[in-house]
Amino acid sequence: MRHVIIGCGAAAMAAAERLRVVKPEDDIIMISKDTDSHSRCMLHKYLGGERDERGIAFRGEDFFRKNQIMWAGGLMVEGVDTKAKEIALSSGGVQPYDKLLIASGAVYSVPPIPHFRTAKNVFGFRDLSDAQKIREEIRRKQAKQVFIVGSGLVGLDVAYALLELGIKVTVAEMADRILPLQTDAVSAKAYQELFEKAGASFRLGIGASDSLVNEENEITHVILSNGEQIPCDFVVAAAGVRPNIEFLRDSGLAAERALTVDEYLRTSAEDVYAAGDVTGLSGIWPNAMDQGRVAAMNMAGMPVAYTDRFCIKNTINFFGLTMLSVGAVEPVGEDCQVVVRESRDTYKKAILKDGRLLGIQLQGDISGSGIWQYLIKNKIHLTEILKTKDIFHVSYADFYGMDETGEYVYKVK
Ligand SMILES: Cc1cc2nc3c(=O)[nH]c(=O)nc-3n(C[C@H](O)[C@H](O)[C@H](O)COP(=O)(O)OP(=O)(O)OC[C@H]3O[C@@H](n4cnc5c(N)ncnc54)[C@H](O)[C@@H]3O)c2cc1C
Repeated sequence: MRHVIIGCGAAAMAAAERLRVVKPEDDIIMISKDTDSHSRCMLHKYLGGERDERGIAFRGEDFFRKNQIMWAGGLMVEGVDTKAKEIALSSGGVQPYDKLLIASGAVYSVPPIPHFRTAKNVFGFRDLSDAQKIREEIRRKQAKQVFIVGSGLVGLDVAYALLELGIKVTVAEMADRILPLQTDAVSAKAYQELFEKAGASFRLGIGASDSLVNEENEITHVILSNGEQIPCDFVVAAAGVRPNIEFLRDSGLAAERALTVDEYLRTSAEDVYAAGDVTGLSGIWPNAMDQGRVAAMNMAGMPVAYTDRFCIKNTINFFGLTMLSVGAVEPVGEDCQVVVRESRDTYKKAILKDGRLLGIQLQGDISGSGIWQYLIKNKIHLTEILKTKDIFHVSYADFYGMDETGEYVYKVK
């Protein structure tokens, strides 16, 4: 049996690893545009010069050899023929498969601002190759100032790395605060102040609407919707990603914004599976790996459903200030109860509705944080416990006891 995997990111590597365990005799072939398998979560460390290419790898150098996987890096898949059961390669050849996994991730979007999609100096930040291009641009231009569109985790990763290199950054964000998906006004402000102390400048509640280019077709100024002109050596677009399905458009595979999959991560074609960001089910690393493992089991003929679609969990750390954000960051609809505790070093906020936790933010001390995702995901009813206990002191001990085998068991409904 020949398993072919498109990609060498989180989902693809986890799938290959699992396949090798459950199908020791099968052929596994991986094909990726990436020339190095690396962690995107650590890309900023490469950009900031803290680590080299090998330092952001998440599997050892001998991963492919040790697992007897044939890997072709730096090769693009250009299409999938699900009838002939083969994929077309940028080399001009084809690769037949018995089972195929598409784990092609996501691609960054460049907003439709004049010149942004055509100028030579607008970069995304998704792959190691993006970080390499930015490093080369910094060197070539002796860059001193950079404009970043978007203040989500990716935009701030870039800002952090550039600040470490002594480059001034201006970040524009359409929302009224930075990290709008993970923070509220208070926790966002704490990060904003740390970034500003390090030399960043923010424009919040405002978008870029135009730009000026020089004769080299490079953006020299970004113009904001209030008319302000911001000079820059180059621009980084960090305003969102979309599932990477463009190369599959003639494949006949069912897709909307993302590749359509059922609970077994099967696409609409027989023997073709998908996992990770390309499915649009999640946009975070651990979920991509989980999906890769589930897809692998199904490719191996051992049916497993992917049921864990809860993905709204973020752990953040900038300038040593850590934060855990799970679920809603603001009240959702009527009748929410909001509990806030603030001390000198810690900000805690819980949002509850009908006795159940909808969201939690812990900034500063995030110890004992495993419980929150569990409570939110499983919609655990807390009314009884909260009669005697502060929400922030709820722990696993309130729900479980040990059984005779030493396993935790459910205690309270
Ligand atoms: C800067 C940054 C920071 C992040 N930080 C975090 C974080 O702190 N925590 C977190 O949980 N998540 C984080 N994420 C998100 C996380 O990295 C993704 O959810 C995860 O990488 C998704 O894994 P994937 O395998 O689906 O896709 P990817 O990891 O993107 O892998 C896609 C693979 O497909 C290959 N590929 C694509 N198209 C083709 C083609 N046509 N032919 C051949 N190969 C192809 C690529 O080369 C790549 O190997 C971050 C993402 C970025 C960009």
